[in-house]
Amino acid sequence: MERIDCAIIGAGVVGLAVARELAARGREVLILEAESAFGTGISARNSEVIHAGIYYPAGSLKARLCVAGRKLLYAYCAERGIAHRPCGKLIVATSEAQVGELDAIASRARANGVDDLQRLSREAARALEPALECRAALLSPSTGIIDSHALMLSLLGDAERNGAVLALQTRVLGGRVAADGMVLDIDSGGERSELGARCVVNCAGLGAQGFARALAGLPAESVPPLHYAKGNYYALAGRAPFSRLIYPVPEAAGLGVHLTLDLGGQARFGPDVEWIERIDYTVDPRRADAFYAEVRRYWPQLPDDALQPAYAGIRPKPHAPGEAARDFLVSGPAQHGVPGLVNLYGIESPGLTSCLALAGHVLAALTPGT
Ligand SMILES: Cc1cc2nc3c(=O)[nH]c(=O)nc-3n(C[C@H](O)[C@H](O)[C@H](O)COP(=O)(O)OP(=O)(O)OC[C@H]3O[C@@H](n4cnc5c(N)ncnc54)[C@H](O)[C@@H]3O)c2cc1C
Repeated sequence: MERIDCAIIGAGVVGLAVARELAARGREVLILEAESAFGTGISARNSEVIHAGIYYPAGSLKARLCVAGRKLLYAYCAERGIAHRPCGKLIVATSEAQVGELDAIASRARANGVDDLQRLSREAARALEPALECRAALLSPSTGIIDSHALMLSLLGDAERNGAVLALQTRVLGGRVAADGMVLDIDSGGERSELGARCVVNCAGLGAQGFARALAGLPAESVPPLHYAKGNYYALAGRAPFSRLIYPVPEAAGLGVHLTLDLGGQARFGPDVEWIERIDYTVDPRRADAFYAEVRRYWPQLPDDALQPAYAGIRPKPHAPGEAARDFLVSGPAQHGVPGLVNLYGIESPGLTSCLALAGHVLAALTPGT
């Protein structure tokens, strides 16, 4: 049986960031990816927004890793020439009741260390974005957008320069905890084998619980449930008259129907929240019907029939519909008792923004006390 030091399961943005971090510290790293290319999972189906860290509960991993990760990510993009733009975002109040909520959002942001939000009157907001309708707004200058594929390519390049190896079409089916690490059951293009690994970092995204449940010796109660919350996007036909991202004041169910832009200037609306039972990326054109009224609250000129089904991503939620939202779950030896194993669960937004900080956090979880 082949043996290695560290196996990373999953070559999404998180697995690649963890691989880069471990390889930079001289560890032997093998990245095991089920698909035939890296970054085709959740990391390929998101909004590509560099979040400021505004809404998350103070002290949560999401808040801490987003704020720290955003700073690391901007610096990394500048250093490596990764396409990105700190375009900024406006959080808009479209009713008098929502105007008061802007203060609550600003104070939550301050508690998270986001201290650059600016309160704007209707006129000041419209001076920035003339097509916008609102009562008042918050400007977040440190929100931006990024080419996530270029980011992943760069992370992989860094890891490979330090000796990491990416094995594609290599699915980890499960395994067992052994005396000196773990033994993984691998399927490489139809061929079954075993691989010994001293450390395993489970960054399998939607596959994280599946692997963890199939690892004999890992306490079952340490594995949280997995629920799929699909997010559908609808692209705008034609150019949007906005240069910043536009988010309504969040509602109970999510961030509301917001407008994001890609680096080419294409605008899209979403993602919404659709709880589903199995992985399915088809986008139902009829769901766009509900978007028009929402969007017209802040952009009354949205033309009829302008929204076209674009793509969907799936959030790996550890909580069921109706239950309280949960934080990122980084489950290391201190939580489950298996030395050398870190499982990452519920790495939904802001996982892309947080990836570099999350990698540092994983390293600390792998080697507690250092
Ligand atoms: C709709 C949506 C919008 C989002 N928008 C944003 C945003 O704007 N900004 C932001 O910061 N974050 C955003 N996120 C969150 C962000 O996209 C994710 O947190 C991040 O991409 C997760 O990366 P990952 O590496 O954990 O997962 P993935 O990218 O899914 O990578 C996991 C990899 O593991 C592989 N795999 C699975 N099982 C196995 C196995 N058994 N063996 C081997 N390989 C396996 C998969 O093929 C996959 O490549 C969004 C998420 C969603 C769903």
